Amino acid sequence: MNDDASVVDVLVVGAGFSGLYALYRLRQQGRVARVVEAAGDVGGTWFHNRYPGARCDIESLDYCYSFSDELVQEWNWTERYPAQPEILAYINHVADTFDLRRDITFDTVVTSASFDEQANTWHVVTDHGDRITARYVIMATGMLSVAKLPEISGLEEFTGELRHTGDWPQAGVDFTGKRVGVIGTGSSGVQCIPQIARQADDLTVFQRTPHYVVPARNHPLDTEYVADVKARFGEFREAARRHPGGTHRVIGRESALEADPVELRSRLEAHWQQGGPDILASYRDLLTDRTANEKVAAFVHGKIHELVEDQSVADALCPQSYPFGAKRLVLEIDYFSTFNRPNVHLVDVLYTPIERITPTGVRTTEGHYELDCLVLATGFDAMTGALLKVDFRGAGGVSLRERWAAGPRTYLGLSTAGFPNLFFITGPGSPSVLSNMLVSIEQHVEWVTEFIAYLYKNELARAEPSLDKEDAWVEHVNEVAGATLYPTGNSWYLGANVPGKPRVFMPYIGGVGRYREICDQVARDEYDGFVTSAS
Ligand code: FAD
Ligand code: NAP
Repeated sequence: MNDDASVVDVLVVGAGFSGLYALYRLRQQGRVARVVEAAGDVGGTWFHNRYPGARCDIESLDYCYSFSDELVQEWNWTERYPAQPEILAYINHVADTFDLRRDITFDTVVTSASFDEQANTWHVVTDHGDRITARYVIMATGMLSVAKLPEISGLEEFTGELRHTGDWPQAGVDFTGKRVGVIGTGSSGVQCIPQIARQADDLTVFQRTPHYVVPARNHPLDTEYVADVKARFGEFREAARRHPGGTHRVIGRESALEADPVELRSRLEAHWQQGGPDILASYRDLLTDRTANEKVAAFVHGKIHELVEDQSVADALCPQSYPFGAKRLVLEIDYFSTFNRPNVHLVDVLYTPIERITPTGVRTTEGHYELDCLVLATGFDAMTGALLKVDFRGAGGVSLRERWAAGPRTYLGLSTAGFPNLFFITGPGSPSVLSNMLVSIEQHVEWVTEFIAYLYKNELARAEPSLDKEDAWVEHVNEVAGATLYPTGNSWYLGANVPGKPRVFMPYIGGVGRYREICDQVARDEYDGFVTSAS
């Protein structure tokens, strides 16, 4: 990093979709901005998660930027659900088109940041010892960017190839002729298992909790359809912005409790055939009423029993311990049929727990599995992981880790009291991971950069949320979540996958459209809820 870069108006941490758009907007506003990124290039999630089968579960025409019509028109998505290489190529195209890399420092991790109350600036330190002074810091560090290793003893003793899906090598991994184990059957596991099974000699899947998995029915995009959407893209995206999930999912108005059994089956079957996550919204009460939820759960269990030949394996693949959709619904391509292959074995580690990793494999209470490669599809320290890895010291030297010891507290998911001039993109307390992230990222980046422009225009040097507004928002987020079945899911949404992490439902379920209205109203009311000052 050069000396000129060490004093900036705005420091952006992270060069995924969020950080790149923040840089673009800040430049447009004439701000001196710098991005610091831990990885060697742009892409964020799509740089780090290169495991075989990695793919989006939001349709490509929704999962893209909308800020530049030129970009919308020139880029051609090829599949309904784009694969990681295509998304990464898109992000690279964006970085090239807008010449973004010149303001990004790669291979550098922000490790600490302390707020100087005299100067109203952040002093930021990196792992290379760089010191950057910034009036504002935008944390575009991702909600799923800190890979989580399982708490299993002996991991470091494994002498074969050990890989985490969230930190996949750029050169790829060759499984040819190998005995491979995969631990984890969430979205990452479900995506990589069929691909690895095709290449490896032998694949053992260690499953603790089966996820609800529905067909993706991915397909190449019809060029006429793409041309039609592009021709009306403004209106198409506007509909997503006002939608609860930031997509175009049709939301059923009826109750599954009142549906005639034949009609219910035929509606669920239509969703199953169409593929994608819309089945979640097939009836209005699937995520609020247990009995309604059980109807769709029973339908999915039936499908698993049709697709998997060995009925004891099918039984093991049927989730039983939580409601349908309470953990993120997973889209599959060839997942269930993979368990019909002779080289694939399912080990139910709920009943025969993993005791330890040995130098040559995995030992469960039932036996030892010899492996050449072990793939950890064990998820992330989600939402707060990347924020709390940085040692933030706010006003009065207060530590963010201490302030959030009982769980994250934010106003609108954008900012937290006591940490002035610090903003989060898709932070805890916003729709974030429950939404199409591209819609939420654009909304947050636009809101934050508009706020920063407002602060400069009004010669204000400091802004932070008031404690009472923050408390009220946290209460609202909890109340809305409490009215649904989501908190019963024991998921990473709640921090349940990280031992010792406080159990707080982190994303805001109130809906993308409604949330946007709240944020817009706050801005119209001269940033109501934020305390600002000139010096
Ligand atoms: P990220 O892409 O996570 O980028 C954050 C960047 O910050 C990373 O590159 C990281 O290296 C960097 N960073 C973090 N901490 C530091 C630090 N201290 N110093 C320097 N750099 C740092 N969302 C959807 O809406 N639909 C999907 O289908 C979907 N699929 C996904 C698939 C996978 C495998 C994963 C893991 C997530 C998926 N997501 C999906 C969520 C996805 O994270 C977002 O859609 C989006 O890519 C997030 O972009 P971002 O820029 O906010 O964060
Ligand atoms: P995840 O959903 O948290 O799944 C982690 C898996 O690892 C779970 O099956 C978990 O089992 C298992 N696991 C963890 N520790 C274990 C242990 N000690 N022993 C045995 N099993 C263990 O993580 P993920 O699959 O990486 O997905 C995280 C999120 O990233 C997704 O929910 C989604 O938002 C996003 N993502 C999206 C896509 C996509 O389709 N576009 C793809 C990948 C990721 P338990 O459930 O029992 O804990």
